[in-house]
Amino acid sequence: MAGGGNRVTYDVLGPVAAVGGRPPARARSMLAGWDSPFRQNGGMTDTQAVVFDFYNTLAAPHADDFWSRLPGLVAAAGGEMEGRALEDWERLQPEEHLEHSTSEAAYRAWQARRLEALLEQCGVPRAAHAGIVAEIEDVRYTRLFQVFPDVADVLADLRDRGLMVGICSNWDWDLERHLRHNRIHDLIDFFVCSAIHGHRKPHPAIFATVIDQAGVPAERIVFVGDSLSDDIAGSMRAGLRPVHIARHHACPPDGHDGVACVPDLHGLAALIA
Ligand SMILES: [Mg+2]
Repeated sequence: MAGGGNRVTYDVLGPVAAVGGRPPARARSMLAGWDSPFRQNGGMTDTQAVVFDFYNTLAAPHADDFWSRLPGLVAAAGGEMEGRALEDWERLQPEEHLEHSTSEAAYRAWQARRLEALLEQCGVPRAAHAGIVAEIEDVRYTRLFQVFPDVADVLADLRDRGLMVGICSNWDWDLERHLRHNRIHDLIDFFVCSAIHGHRKPHPAIFATVIDQAGVPAERIVFVGDSLSDDIAGSMRAGLRPVHIARHHACPPDGHDGVACVPDLHGLAALIA
């Protein structure tokens, strides 16, 4: 098993809900002009593997996340967090970070340095950095996400059909902890975690590992995710068959350039039946 990470509280599809369910122009432009393997093949019934994003695809958002705590901690220390500072901090993470993925300790140290740079940017006095980083890490590395209610049944169903099942997530080193907590670790064949891998979606290298782990041709792999940029555009570019999952809002049919969209995992199971 491979494994990795981030905290994608601010996923591309988060803002979508706030603007009426229409994918942002930036994400739409990423999809424009790419010919979907789904459309080329006319269906998904010859699927041999299904690979899922984790956050907001399998795992439900967490109300008490370090994201939600950070603005208050910054303010209490005398700093000020601009509206998009956190989103930018997440979005601007480099897609390749091999030099920081040599060990869990190295990865955490890098994330701590990134967090301190954010605190500096927010005007938090240096003397307060260590305390805030420690408090954030205490939440970030101990919290547990719960998967959506349809997850266990559908993963088991897919495997009963003889399909390979995997997870590919932009996540911290501790993804496996969340999988075991939700008792879905035994329902998957592999997982690929960005922190451990050294690349984040949508980098082609992490999708290459997905294809390698699945052990089947890329065009026989369905990739399911909520992020139009990381999951849909990334998997499409790698030759996989993307399926968008929109659990909290309806997506317009013209918003995906022909990519299938499902409201939940039962919809996915029906799509590839
Ligand atoms: Mg996601």
